[in-house]
Amino acid sequence: MSIYEKLGVQTLINASETYTNLGGSLMDPRTLEAMREAGQHFVSLTDLQSAVNARAAELTRNEAAFITTGASGGVVLAAVSCMCGTDEAMQDRIPHTEAFPRSEVLVYDGPYLSLIPYWRLIGLTGAVIRRVPPTVEAMRQAVNGRTAAVFLFPGKLYEPGIPSCEETIPMLKRLGIPVVVDAAAQLPPVSNLWYYTRELGADLCVFSGGKHIRGPQSTGLVVGRRELIEGCRLSGCPNPRIGRAYKTGKEELCGFITALEIFVTEGGEELYRRQAERLKRLADRLKRQTPEVEITFLRQGRLGTEQPLLHVLLPKGKTGAGCNRFTRSLPQPVDVGFYGDEFHQPPNLIFLNAYNLREDEVDAVADAVSAYAAQACPDA
Ligand SMILES: *Cc1c(COP(=O)(O)O)cnc(C)c1O
Repeated sequence: MSIYEKLGVQTLINASETYTNLGGSLMDPRTLEAMREAGQHFVSLTDLQSAVNARAAELTRNEAAFITTGASGGVVLAAVSCMCGTDEAMQDRIPHTEAFPRSEVLVYDGPYLSLIPYWRLIGLTGAVIRRVPPTVEAMRQAVNGRTAAVFLFPGKLYEPGIPSCEETIPMLKRLGIPVVVDAAAQLPPVSNLWYYTRELGADLCVFSGGKHIRGPQSTGLVVGRRELIEGCRLSGCPNPRIGRAYKTGKEELCGFITALEIFVTEGGEELYRRQAERLKRLADRLKRQTPEVEITFLRQGRLGTEQPLLHVLLPKGKTGAGCNRFTRSLPQPVDVGFYGDEFHQPPNLIFLNAYNLREDEVDAVADAVSAYAAQACPDA
């Protein structure tokens, strides 16, 4: 009996995304083994942190790195570091930032902010978040002597009408303003691990460990300038400051670094090819069973990442949300992707992603979608 059977919790097939609500991603057996081994010995946690953080910096080609609890934890630690640097007395005063010389964090305003609620976490630190109209010129005018940092949230799906990192970062660097990029889900390509910092000049960049890196779901990574990473470290576990509430244990640290090693070495063309093959097989079976669906093979993920994706237009009268409800209610539930109204896509569109899909799950996804499309009465 599996642990989920014992607990009476139904497992599902993930054909949608690395959603946290579904469990993020699945770890490689080598990562699980590293966690199991890590759990069998005591070590000095600070020695372990030094070793894995140094290795993470090397693997991501950054000056320095700090492993924390999710990209969310990284956002908080990055905000602390941009306000306080390595001043431990200042860090001890968080979230009481009134007397800090720089306590404002700027973000671009826009409807996209409601789609990526993570920017709100910056406020946990006591930083004052200011929303700036989404133009490079407005951002240039908004920065002042109280600006601790500008946080940017790239992602093709969210940001129509928002200036890109490529447009914004060079201007901010000329003004000497620290820039943090929350690139939690902007992988692959692997090169994004150093693109925002080394190529665009961002001071810090944050990634989720439990999404495309396939580490433990509770991990995340901050990379970038040595002194700012040192600020993250000082505010993080095991120091008794804000990041003490975001504890990464020895098992997560060892699991994350193993997952990162695997992602950096194996996350390139071969990973793309394997997903594309699964999606082609899925598309063929679906089209054979349900000729009236229109299938488009896309070469980019929804956020503009390097991963293949299927868009499937269901017969008229069907809806993406209805399809998801139906496939989730099958004896072997399947999660298919659909777009909320805010994305202005046809209501009968679904997306299928193979990042989390095992070879032996492909047919079940095609069959589930076909069964929904064949239903006589469309949902209202
Ligand atoms: C998923 C996501 C996060 C949160 O990542 P966790 O690793 O789950 O904490 C933060 N920011 C963005 C843009 C994300 O997509």
